[in-house]
Amino acid sequence: MATVKSAFRLFTMVLVSLVVWPVAASAAGVWVTDDGQQHLGARALYLLEQDAPLTLEQARQRFANGQAVAASHDALSFGIGNKPVWVRVLVENPGDGDARRLLLAGAPWLDLVDAWFVDPDGAITQVRAGDSSARLQAAVPALGYLFEHDWQPGISELLLRVETDDPLVLPMTLMGPSAWDSTLQAGHYAYGFVYGFLLALLAYNLMLFIGLRQRSHLNYSVYLASFIAMNLAYTGHGYAWLWPGAVDVQRYIIFVFMALFACAGLRFASGFLALRDYSPRMAKAIGLGCAAFMAALVATIAMGLHREAAYVAFTMALLFSLVMVELGWAAVARRYPAGRYFLAAACFGMAGTLITTLTVWGWVPYSRLAYRAVEFGLLVEATLLALAVAYLVRRHEMARRQAEHRASIDPLTGLCNRRALASRGEALLAMARRNGQPLSLVLFDLDHFKLINDRHGHAAGDQVLRDTARLMEEQCRAGDLTARWGGEEFLFLLPDTDVVRAQVLVTRLREYLQDRIQLAGQGALPVSASFGIAGLDDEQTLEQLVNKADRMLYEAKRQGRDRVCVIGPAAEQNGLPVDGTSLP
Ligand code: GH3
Ligand code: MG
Ligand code: MG
Repeated sequence: MATVKSAFRLFTMVLVSLVVWPVAASAAGVWVTDDGQQHLGARALYLLEQDAPLTLEQARQRFANGQAVAASHDALSFGIGNKPVWVRVLVENPGDGDARRLLLAGAPWLDLVDAWFVDPDGAITQVRAGDSSARLQAAVPALGYLFEHDWQPGISELLLRVETDDPLVLPMTLMGPSAWDSTLQAGHYAYGFVYGFLLALLAYNLMLFIGLRQRSHLNYSVYLASFIAMNLAYTGHGYAWLWPGAVDVQRYIIFVFMALFACAGLRFASGFLALRDYSPRMAKAIGLGCAAFMAALVATIAMGLHREAAYVAFTMALLFSLVMVELGWAAVARRYPAGRYFLAAACFGMAGTLITTLTVWGWVPYSRLAYRAVEFGLLVEATLLALAVAYLVRRHEMARRQAEHRASIDPLTGLCNRRALASRGEALLAMARRNGQPLSLVLFDLDHFKLINDRHGHAAGDQVLRDTARLMEEQCRAGDLTARWGGEEFLFLLPDTDVVRAQVLVTRLREYLQDRIQLAGQGALPVSASFGIAGLDDEQTLEQLVNKADRMLYEAKRQGRDRVCVIGPAAEQNGLPVDGTSLP
């Protein structure tokens, strides 16, 4: 009785499944209206080829026998170096005539993609695509492999077999012709924008490098160029535009560009963050790491180990984004200027790289956005780094100007120092000569200054020097030059001023020195000085004019100090003592 019962149960189950199977299959069938598109992933069954390659019939048999797994995501992804994958989807055309629908599947880097269309009447069409042979149908750049088929009314079977050493990702979208047109157009616009933006940034930074000779611009340009090259390679644009049919190039060039991108990025980071100064060991470790990975990549490529080369390149890309963030973090921690920009940029780059890598490896559910995250991330990163470079260049420029300013002034008095006087003075001299205008140079030295130091202290001496400078500047017109020539020796260079007017200035300054210098807590301190005035005559250089004034100053000292000696044109005519005679 029990055997009869179970035999009956088995019979009904078989019957039910026979009836239900086509219904279930029909329910699982996918179709799209003309203007739509549908991801097939979640409707697919897949199986991995274990040992020997399966024939189409064997594969169909296994799908029919339920030896396949139902996919749970819209895009199947299996990681690097996987076994070949078979996928089956049932497609139902509910109409009563043939209809053209396009299937966009896979990523442009897949080595071999075989597609079989099994029509309801049993006819089979096979299309072979991939980038491992020039005979195969090539990919549509950035989008994947496109298969056109005229689907007959009823349920057709679509089978795909994918074999690759590269990351095995298999997004599958079925769409009508107009949806394909807009997909293609959107792709063109998107890449037109991306490449346009990157090329403009590249050209701009190259020009900045040529103009400013700032190494960071060059490093940044190389980094951008390697990013563009990597992008061209992995989207398939390079294969379509630059090395069509060169399958051996296509096989490895993505890895080479990925590695170069990582090296160029780290090279830029080292320079930008001045790593050699802050952490020479880190800089060295990065250099060695890059060299080691590069060597490993070259070795695997030379030995034709495609899968191993893929592992090396992807590991390098992932480590690269981690190291970039670590470097940014360290830079912020040591308060490096532009460290925050760098960290933010590196975080975007890393997030994008990570999301795409994990999607490609199958650890993150597929979505178009996740799949393209690396492009968004790196685009934002490139922009932020460009800002960071600009920021750093501005800081360098400001620091340079400050340093130049500091190098040209005397720190105690704030007057010009000798160095600055030399360059600015020559210009004033040349101008006076060209315009035929008078020019006077006054050189003076405080009398017995050593005594002031000795009696009141060095700090008081400093105060006297500062006050002298202040009183000098009070005498000046715009365009006059004041300088501290040496210890307690000062200088005026007065354009458009003959010795007579220079004399007037000196007279007033002598009065001020007598009664306007105050020592803290000690009241007024009269100070006297000896002056040499020289008017521009036929001197060719500033040095000659200074020497002439110095001779007068020496003369004034020699004659007993606290007096003025003048030499130069217009002195005689105005009744001034000339050539060594002094004016007390
Ligand atoms: P004379 O009338 O011959 O010019 O005598 P003097 O004492 O002014 O000249 P001397 O060259 O003998 O001494 C100059 C002194 O100025 C010596 C030096 O210590 C002092 N001196 C130079 N630079 C500074 C400075 O920056 N601050 C102070 N407080 N003293 C200075
Ligand atoms: Mg490939
Ligand atoms: Mg002196």
